[in-house]
Amino acid sequence: MDNRFVKPFYENNRVNFALAVLLSTVMAAMNIFISWTLGEVVDAVSQMDGRALGKVAFAMGAGTPCFLLIDLLAQWTKARFIHKGLRQYKEQAFSAISQKSIQAFSRENTGTYLSAFTNDAASIEENYLGRSVTLLFYGLEFVLTLAVMLAYSPVLTLAVVVLCLLPVVVSVTMGGGLAKRERKVSDLNEKFTARLKDLLGGYAVIKSFQAEGQARRLFNEENRAVETAKEKRRRYAGILSVVSNASGFVMQFGIFLIGAVLAMRGHITIGTVLVFVNLCNSLISPIQVIPEHWASRRAAKGLAEKLGALARENVEEDGKEALLSLQKEIRFQGLSFGYGLDKDVLRDIDAVFEKGKSYAVVGASGSGKTTLLNLLMGAHRDYKGALAIDGHELRGLSAGSLYDHISLISQDVFIFDDTIRANITMFAAFPREAVDRAIRLAGLDAVIQERGESYRCGENGVNLSGGERQRISIARSLLKGADVLLVDEATSALDNETAQYISSAILDLQGLTRIVVTHRLDAAMLGRYDKILMLKNGKLCEQGRFEQLMEEKGQFYALFTVTNA
Ligand code: ADP
Repeated sequence: MDNRFVKPFYENNRVNFALAVLLSTVMAAMNIFISWTLGEVVDAVSQMDGRALGKVAFAMGAGTPCFLLIDLLAQWTKARFIHKGLRQYKEQAFSAISQKSIQAFSRENTGTYLSAFTNDAASIEENYLGRSVTLLFYGLEFVLTLAVMLAYSPVLTLAVVVLCLLPVVVSVTMGGGLAKRERKVSDLNEKFTARLKDLLGGYAVIKSFQAEGQARRLFNEENRAVETAKEKRRRYAGILSVVSNASGFVMQFGIFLIGAVLAMRGHITIGTVLVFVNLCNSLISPIQVIPEHWASRRAAKGLAEKLGALARENVEEDGKEALLSLQKEIRFQGLSFGYGLDKDVLRDIDAVFEKGKSYAVVGASGSGKTTLLNLLMGAHRDYKGALAIDGHELRGLSAGSLYDHISLISQDVFIFDDTIRANITMFAAFPREAVDRAIRLAGLDAVIQERGESYRCGENGVNLSGGERQRISIARSLLKGADVLLVDEATSALDNETAQYISSAILDLQGLTRIVVTHRLDAAMLGRYDKILMLKNGKLCEQGRFEQLMEEKGQFYALFTVTNA
């Protein structure tokens, strides 16, 4: 069992927890106090004892404000305990998720996490944290009440214990069923959130394929499933409540009658009978609530453990060595790689990328270009052969230091719904000149001048054009101080002119090593690269300058002429 996610509930929070429980216990004594005053008043009246009545009245007047004050403190400390526990739990969970590698995370459904942080967190707040306090409160209330009863009348207490058996049996047998239904609701909520995320994310595709009907059907299916499960849970809770109440009535009436008989025979006073009947409530509530709370608290703890298991999944070994900067070259030597299938996607690659130079990687779709870039980003460490940066084998380098020096500008740039500047700095503090330089080099100064510093990009950059999003990505990499830019050139996201502009901007960046996967076989642009590498079926079949490859009239020449025919 992974207790890592349960620990933060109590970290530096035990005092709050203990105080909340302790103060609640005093509140449990309040119920006993009320019962006591009731018994005293009745006995004082039946004996026509004015002094005794005065004493009780004084106790009532003095006790009530004390109890109210303690009640307030109990509520506050409980609120404090829940606040701290839940906050620490969510922070720990997010921190665990953020330690996953990009590739490991991309294999997971983010809907599961969204549900864990919303639905499950709400359930944990209510059922785990809240109930940890109330369970102890009810437990103590039960014990205290029995002790007081015993002090009043052992005989009647014995009758109470026997009569208690009925509600205890009902509660224990039915309480677990409620927790089971609770878990079902959580599982279906998770599926619902995942579906909703998919349907909203794919909105444009759904509309353009006129699949609104199907989308509604899918939504309705999940929605109905979750709401039906919730209704079943509520109905079950209703049955439980009716049965519990019935057994409670039987118990209370039983005590009333037995107490009346004992009072008629002179064993106890009528006041004591009333005390017992009143105290019954302090016994019935714990009996009704404890098994159900205990089960749903366990179910909620299970949710925290579920997130713990998710965080442990897909965590990959990271290298230890830190990459300082690129001094000389990146070298592939006899490198082969496949995605766990029989066939290698890249085969026996020998290539050198020298510092400060620009390289174009070309080849038909599926020839392995993107895989080559992903290998350079440290996405897969199970390659055969060698891939070394200044002689340091890539699989031994830490992902963090690799990301410091190598930056990928991919086709789909993620833009946060914030200002352009925040999107470039990624919310970190940089000197203003450095940010301005990155903005200028990436060609974003005109956009900022036109729309102002605080221009918001919209959800995933909807207020920007494809080209502007790409330029933000370039500026981010420049600001970060990357030595190597890997570019997966957009095919569809950009119009030809913007794509040319971006490629040209990247070629103009002196001093950086640039490796660009390009689909646009444009002579003027290709002529500017220091080297072109041509991939075919995972093999590096040709490499050289543009003019040289054209003269050789080999594979590149064939691809170039076919594409530009
Ligand atoms: P390119 O970028 O040249 O189009 P890719 O590197 O994307 O080529 O893909 C090369 C081959 O690897 C293709 O056959 C593709 O289907 C396969 N491939 C790419 N990514 C994965 C993956 N994550 N799992 C399995 N196979 C993959």
